Amino acid sequence: MEKKIIIAIDGHSSSGKSTMAKDLAREIGYIYIDTGAMYRAVTLYCLRKGYIQGDTIQEEALKADLDQMDISFRYNAETGRPDTYLKVEKETRSMEVADKVSLIAALGFVRRAMVAKQQEMGKAKGIVMDGRDIGTVVFPEAELKVFVTASPEVRARRRLEELQAKGEQTTYEEVLANVKKRDYIDSTREESPLRQAPDALVLDNSEMTIPEQKKWLRDKFEAAVCSSK
Ligand code: C5P
Repeated sequence: MEKKIIIAIDGHSSSGKSTMAKDLAREIGYIYIDTGAMYRAVTLYCLRKGYIQGDTIQEEALKADLDQMDISFRYNAETGRPDTYLKVEKETRSMEVADKVSLIAALGFVRRAMVAKQQEMGKAKGIVMDGRDIGTVVFPEAELKVFVTASPEVRARRRLEELQAKGEQTTYEEVLANVKKRDYIDSTREESPLRQAPDALVLDNSEMTIPEQKKWLRDKFEAAVCSSK
């Protein structure tokens, strides 16, 4: 049997990482883990519990609850995507969560809890994981590391289409501001900031179609499997 590897896909918000990662995992029979969904689930939980007021988070209350928060994924045959444990997938993609998620993801105790879960999920390899710190912190030894990006304007347009398709009322300006704000918080936070691993392959997909990106990633996967034999 072919040796299984770890594929770490990091990059900016709405750069299309999840689509690429999910499609590759399905094609090659690997498990796909969307780590952003984990931070979004924690954020939605905090919003529901009233732990976020403006930019202030009740950290002690969240800390007390975090241990019992069992975040896992179950494959949903209808959507072809894994649902997060609380079945909050749809709501976690809302603008309300997007507006606060980077604040929650900047908390050290939240990151440590999520990273531990992610490392456990990848222990058996055969995994495609996407996020911000997968190639740098979660699996620095991953056999294939990709860093995906596109211009903020291209990413905002893609995200707007996704939100509009779900019937959410928002504007291009609002989405662009959120994309830029998340880039800023994610890259300047103290705990595991978003950065490119030195050995990551960079993909700027601003001018690429989805089939072109898929092919690019598949080729890199084949090459990584060959060189890890
Ligand atoms: O990937 P997605 O846009 O769903 O991630 C939502 C947010 O979760 C990011 O903007 C970032 O703040 C945080 N995140 C993170 N580390 C990860 C994945 C996501 O900090 N590994």
